[in-house]
Amino acid sequence: MKRVIGFHYTLTDKSGTVLDSSIGDEPLFFLEGSQQIIPGLEKVLGLMNPGDKRKIEVKANDAYGEINPDLVVKVKKTQFPPDAELQVGDQFQVNNDHHSPVFTIMNVDTDEVTVDGNHPMAGKDLFFDVEIVGIRPATAEEMSHGHAHGAHGQGHH
Ligand SMILES: [Zn+2]
Repeated sequence: MKRVIGFHYTLTDKSGTVLDSSIGDEPLFFLEGSQQIIPGLEKVLGLMNPGDKRKIEVKANDAYGEINPDLVVKVKKTQFPPDAELQVGDQFQVNNDHHSPVFTIMNVDTDEVTVDGNHPMAGKDLFFDVEIVGIRPATAEEMSHGHAHGAHGQGHH
């Protein structure tokens, strides 16, 4: 039986800058073994109990991977929608699947746009402060969808 684990987290980089946090928001719930969260984090959370708090350091290659220079590519401007506002630093996904890569616009030329398909957190060692808020068995629906549905198994869609 797979489990759904809920946790609060604050994510910082090496310099202590907060990159992301669930504090003040809903905790994050994930289905074990479904690649909903990075492997280095799941490995440790799977061993914790409700109420446990811990600091977890995840090396880049166990998080979003090292930076791959092959993912920095030039794209003809004509491949973007004509009304797209192309701004350096903007991020977009090619489709709505949340597993598809996020591209960041690095440079905009007269007829070419340089985009970087590396995850924004690629190449970074990540530092998590986590607290487990709940663990429950996954529902049959969650098992078939391959992801968790919030605190009670019916959180989304
Ligand atoms: Zn679902």
